[in-house]
Amino acid sequence: NLAASLPMPDAATDLNLDPYWMPFTHNRYFKRTRPLDRLMVAADGAYYTTVEGQRLFDCLSGLWCSSLGHRDPRIVEAVKAQLDRADYVPAFQVASPDTFRLAERIAEVTPENLNRVFFTNSGSEAVDTALKIAIGYHRLRGEASRTRLIGREKGYHGVGLGGITVGGMVANRKMFAPLMVQGADHLPHTHNLKEMAFSRGQPQWGAHLADDLERLVALHDASTIAAVIVEPMQGSVGVVVPPLGYLQRLREICTRHGILLIFDEVICGFGRMGDWFGAQAFGVTPDLITFAKCVNNGTVPMGGVIARQEIYDTFMQGPEYMVELFHGYTYSAHPLAVAAANATLDILHADEVPRRFGELAVKIEDAAHSLRGEPNVIDIRNCGAAAAIEMAPIPGQVGARGLKVFEEGLKRGMLLRFTGDTIAMAPPVITTQAELDRMFEAVRASIHAAA
Ligand code: PLP
Repeated sequence: NLAASLPMPDAATDLNLDPYWMPFTHNRYFKRTRPLDRLMVAADGAYYTTVEGQRLFDCLSGLWCSSLGHRDPRIVEAVKAQLDRADYVPAFQVASPDTFRLAERIAEVTPENLNRVFFTNSGSEAVDTALKIAIGYHRLRGEASRTRLIGREKGYHGVGLGGITVGGMVANRKMFAPLMVQGADHLPHTHNLKEMAFSRGQPQWGAHLADDLERLVALHDASTIAAVIVEPMQGSVGVVVPPLGYLQRLREICTRHGILLIFDEVICGFGRMGDWFGAQAFGVTPDLITFAKCVNNGTVPMGGVIARQEIYDTFMQGPEYMVELFHGYTYSAHPLAVAAANATLDILHADEVPRRFGELAVKIEDAAHSLRGEPNVIDIRNCGAAAAIEMAPIPGQVGARGLKVFEEGLKRGMLLRFTGDTIAMAPPVITTQAELDRMFEAVRASIHAAA
């Protein structure tokens, strides 16, 4: 009996909340209100259990990472078995055979020539790694002037210095300008309520926004541009869906000008889009893919970059005894992360997870759009097995309504995710129809309560 074995609320009432500086959190509000329903002590399947013993449905699969549900016994066993064999193996100059197997297995499910895999410990590290690879690639090919990085407004590429440079969420950038990579530029975002509010799936309008890349090429000259990085579907900003034809057009323009196209698939990768990667789901092949999160179901930190073989081959020059890429992390391909990833890949194949996410996507689309007309709802978006409900802000208090809906959700047994005044949902693949119905009815009730 899990609940009986859990610490009771009194264990939390005298908890000292001060020393822990919580990431991406309103620390003062959290520590003043001491929300016991936000102190998690267990996770199982599609549910968290709070310190009070309340079960919360995991509406966003952790932070988009636990897409199979929590503690699948096949992953738990694999990690335990690995811990019994080897806790740590250095990543430089030696490796575990399991890591080579994992890279091969990842390459098997990527598009075309994307078959060389570099491991990191997070999405942020994956992004910074991909940007380095892009700049290094051009340099090694004799185009050292190609250093400019192009991101997109409202994009999220983690919090590394490269990632915030190409990212486009202003709060993540505005304090840190001196640390950013010089010379970057941004494509316009594709989040246009006037033209595309309440689109089901990919909006019809907006492919032309990719043409702005031609403007940036005309402004800076292609010879200065290394790479363009975008999320195929933008998760963190609240499920912003690529307009039909948009990614194809970006691909064409990049190819025409010798610019590398990077898909940041930290959220899209490993099934959520109804295919292995967003690249396949949207039918566009980039030159580099970044991944993290679902590669091992969020069990142990892991991320990485998948490169086209030609990019890898370009680095393989100079004396053979030399290191070719001066980059890597102590915990690149940590054995526990690798074990969890190999077990996750087993499950993704055996349980046909990408296909099942495709089926869930259809149900999510219908359920999400049934919230149209509810108070303050100004847009509903869906893509793959993910949806977002955007609400009009309370005048002068951007984000306050989102927080209120989040808190109302907790009262109704739902751990929602809010970003500003947008609620995002991406439940695990094991979600039943009844759970989906409960989730959306709870969101509906929470929106009313917050109106
Ligand atoms: N890139 C994208 C597209 C993401 O969604 C995220 C995290 O949500 C990141 C990068 C950063 O990943 P991490 O938080 O693991 O550093």
